[in-house]
Amino acid sequence: MGEMSNQQSTTDVILIGAGIMSATLGTLLKELVPEWNITVFEKLENAGEESSNEWNNAGTGHSALCELNYTVEKPDGSIDISKAIKINEQFQVSRQFWSYLVNHNLIRNPQDFIMPLPHMSLVQGESNVAFLRKRFKALSNNLLFQGMEFSDDPKKLKEWIPLIMEGRNSNEPIAATKIDSGTDVNFGALTRMLIDHLKKQDVAIKYKHQVEDIKRTTDGLWELKVWNIDSGYIERHRAKFVFIGGGGGSLPLLQKTGIPESKHVGGFPVSGLFLVCKNPDVVAKHHAKVYGKAAVGAPPMSVPHLDTRYIDNKKSLLFGPFAGFSPKFLKTGSNMDLIASVKPNNVFTMLAAGAKNIPLTKYLIQQLMLSKEQRIEELRDFVPNAKSEDWDIVVAGQRVQVIKDTETGGKGTLQFGTEVISAADGSVAALLGASPGASTAVHVMLEVIKKCFPQYLKVWEPKLKEMIPSYGKSLVDNSDLFHEIHASTAQALGLIKKEPLQTGRSVS
Ligand SMILES: Cc1cc2nc3c(=O)[nH]c(=O)nc-3n(C[C@H](O)[C@H](O)[C@H](O)COP(=O)(O)OP(=O)(O)OC[C@H]3O[C@@H](n4cnc5c(N)ncnc54)[C@H](O)[C@@H]3O)c2cc1C
Repeated sequence: MGEMSNQQSTTDVILIGAGIMSATLGTLLKELVPEWNITVFEKLENAGEESSNEWNNAGTGHSALCELNYTVEKPDGSIDISKAIKINEQFQVSRQFWSYLVNHNLIRNPQDFIMPLPHMSLVQGESNVAFLRKRFKALSNNLLFQGMEFSDDPKKLKEWIPLIMEGRNSNEPIAATKIDSGTDVNFGALTRMLIDHLKKQDVAIKYKHQVEDIKRTTDGLWELKVWNIDSGYIERHRAKFVFIGGGGGSLPLLQKTGIPESKHVGGFPVSGLFLVCKNPDVVAKHHAKVYGKAAVGAPPMSVPHLDTRYIDNKKSLLFGPFAGFSPKFLKTGSNMDLIASVKPNNVFTMLAAGAKNIPLTKYLIQQLMLSKEQRIEELRDFVPNAKSEDWDIVVAGQRVQVIKDTETGGKGTLQFGTEVISAADGSVAALLGASPGASTAVHVMLEVIKKCFPQYLKVWEPKLKEMIPSYGKSLVDNSDLFHEIHASTAQALGLIKKEPLQTGRSVS
């Protein structure tokens, strides 16, 4: 890499990275202002090859139907469901936008990226069963979680999850909840569909173009130095607005902008592994996403789950992700990523985070060191009869959790959510963090739009409401609207047969 080329361009918008976030933002902007020209720079050869790829994430359409970390038990013993409501509402926004795209033939064959799949939570032990029962009561009375069932009857559980109940001889109490309106989402396929659609809309998609630097020009634009990997030359490209959708690679690029909002922010990389079942008889015996409860003190991303997945139109079975420690920010990144991200302005934030998170780092290193046999042992908590020879290990994507100074957590606090960081004038924005991630891409990219284009919001509002009928409204407070949207998006996305909208019932 080195010599400057005379390749230059000026566009309205540059999107860095061809993952689900850039693909979603580009698609939204093209609907809102078709005349704006957009260029995408992606360092790899194809779209959706990093975290958004179907083998690199768990494909859960996160809507808090099964993830126990979204409902915490308060000190008075009651269950706080506010976060679950928030996540669920955000997924309804994604469903509406995807339905709009399908209904307008902008993307086709929704079954290639979204499938109905029961979401289940499974716990063992008396106190966990009591927690799950309370959680079920709190959620099943809520509009957004209607149709959830609870059972602590082993006979019923055998019907729901034969593979998990087979060979289970412990007398420990066990219970599960099940809701049929869950989904498995192939975010890789969706990313590729959106990028193909953008290409047809005259968006320039530049693969094998790695963004190396971002600087402000004297006339208020942003100029990117981009390494054209094939030619070996460095190109300069300018834009009025830049979105840094580099996934784990976003933090270093945000730091290059030098905007004050990029200071005192760091990243904590977490790697992942899945066990993939290669025995079709075992795969056929399971049909759900089954989430368990994190061990006390373990981080939320370290709760492995047993998931039916639809990848390449084939049913698969994955267990994981097992979290681990890695200094890389991208799966295709470098072992120097973490060190290189430490700057004079965030060194104390990073050191404070390091000191605070010694148990977490220790946990992640221990996880990393597990042998395949030890991982199979963990799998046996879910599948008691699991045979090592039926399962292969595959490497999942990297997540980079945000580290920043917060009022409540103090210096160097590790954040588990996603975070939009933007310049005060809205000319550049970056997405950091990875959870709940791809499921909420539409909500998060609307946040980028609100932060960066406030002057257009009034004009864009009718179109935003056409694409997302609940735009600006809360669904949990609006039962008619929720029912209407839930039914129409299930219809558009082909989820209809598996979507009973009845009130929650306990079958124990
Ligand atoms: C193990 C794991 C499990 C997960 N499970 C789920 C789940 O079940 N449900 C869910 O909703 N989310 C899940 N997520 C999160 C989800 O995968 C991410 O939030 C989402 O894919 C992020 O999309 P993105 O577009 O920001 O990043 P990515 O998909 O990583 O895309 C970023 C792109 O930018 C490119 N890039 C980076 N740097 C540069 C540069 N300098 N120049 C040019 N291009 C660059 C990369 O090559 C990449 O293609 C999971 C993540 C992981 C790692």
